[in-house]
Amino acid sequence: MNTAVAPGLRWPFDNSYARELPGTYVAWQPAPPPAPVLLQLNRDLADELGLDADVLASQAGVAVLAGGVVPEGAEPLAQAYAGHQFGGFSPQLGDGRALLLGELIDRHGRRRDLAFKGSGRTPFARGGDGKAAVGPMLRELVLGEAMHALGIPTTRALAVVATGEPVYRDRVLPGAVLTRVAASHLRVGSFQYFAARGDLDALRRLADYAIARHDPALAGDPDRVFGLLGAVAARQAALVAQWINVGFIHGVMNTDNTTISGETIDYGPCAFVEAYDPAAVFSSIDHGGRYAFGNQPAVARWNIARLAEALLPLLADADDEASLQRAVERATEVVDAFPARLDTALRAGQRAKLGLQQSASVEVDSDAALADDWLALLQRERADFTLAWRRLSDAAAGDEAPLRALFADARAPDAWLARWRARCTADDAATGTAAAARAARMRRVNPLVIPRNHRVEEALAAASEDADLAPFERLLAAVRWPFDDDPALAHYAEPAAFEFTAGYRTFCGT
Ligand code: AMP
Ligand code: MG
Repeated sequence: MNTAVAPGLRWPFDNSYARELPGTYVAWQPAPPPAPVLLQLNRDLADELGLDADVLASQAGVAVLAGGVVPEGAEPLAQAYAGHQFGGFSPQLGDGRALLLGELIDRHGRRRDLAFKGSGRTPFARGGDGKAAVGPMLRELVLGEAMHALGIPTTRALAVVATGEPVYRDRVLPGAVLTRVAASHLRVGSFQYFAARGDLDALRRLADYAIARHDPALAGDPDRVFGLLGAVAARQAALVAQWINVGFIHGVMNTDNTTISGETIDYGPCAFVEAYDPAAVFSSIDHGGRYAFGNQPAVARWNIARLAEALLPLLADADDEASLQRAVERATEVVDAFPARLDTALRAGQRAKLGLQQSASVEVDSDAALADDWLALLQRERADFTLAWRRLSDAAAGDEAPLRALFADARAPDAWLARWRARCTADDAATGTAAAARAARMRRVNPLVIPRNHRVEEALAAASEDADLAPFERLLAAVRWPFDDDPALAHYAEPAAFEFTAGYRTFCGT
């Protein structure tokens, strides 16, 4: 057994999930790996959690991060959850290769889950081997850090440890364990699991737990479950709007990958769009384009509808037809309001990216058209999404040349630029702002550096195939400062060759 106490690693765990939700998990131990080697430690995150990074990097710390030694106070467990995957319902998924180790209160007073991924089979493993490979786990780390730096809610990786074990996929790959930090691991699928089994007691406890953790202002409110539905819808709408505004494609928006916290989770077959295209799909398993870039708002709404269904037994008295009817109506209203909610967040983000400051009530229609026409221009001209926005910020500073250079015909953006400039002038007049402030404002919301697909693949190949982490670390350093104009980072700002993107496929990290 691997339940020894690691000296010097006494973390103040406070495991509310284990304590308050018996019956919703299986207590389980991680599988000790044969030869753990620390590949990455997120020192900033360790510090945020109040953990000593040097101790974590020591042999005893690595033993913990590898799952070989369970620290005192941890209560490892596999959570039960269900989920719709590509539209089909699986009543039992659960943590097949993941374990919640416990919870810590961070330096800001926030409760954070500490969880393993790739720590061995659990009773939910079904046919899986319970393992994870170095490449996909490093991918999760770098994508999570990039999203965090972009200001987008996300789970983050504290560490990636190579296990010294082979993992058998289409090839033999080096194995790894990732330690994930999350606001919680509650998902839409967590609720679906108990709703599908008709276990209303567990469903109610789960809802109250989620409320206490994510929406404490609702606690004690007789209508709190309805409030929870609205709060999750609001968080998911805001999240997906942010994804769209940075060109992020999650790739596998199943309901088990849709968090209650509103954090991005599970960086599997995700990617960033290069040339702007709402139909962009990179996932090797998404044949129908269900999770295509432009389809994400519709899928998010669909996922919220599944949450509404799962919560319905708590929203009504099942024996009272009128109460049930009323609950269905109210839940439907939340689901139907989702697109407008997401659109409001998306438009607010676009206005900031366009450098506009006037409140949303002013000029909202024409601003939406301005943004839509900009995107249509990018799509028509196959311009790089990220660079186009960034170079628009340069145009705000007076230099249009870098923007024009993105178009085959340098004059393609003429008409649109004229409209935008007129709108900027009106915005400055209305808000009493100097035009000179615009470029700096825009550069704070239009990143120069995103984790470009080709750079990510390059870095992961070096790490996984040649055990060379230097390219990965350079990439990681670059994505941590996405809004800086650092000439040293130019390499990371460049789009991939067209042929690369055309043939690019991402895979579930299983
Ligand atoms: P994911 O695609 O990572 O969101 O996982 C979907 C489901 O498959 C979850 O229940 C996972 O725990 C499970 N799963 C994925 N990969 C493995 C694996 N290698 N071994 C066991 N379970 C897995
Ligand atoms: Mg998942």
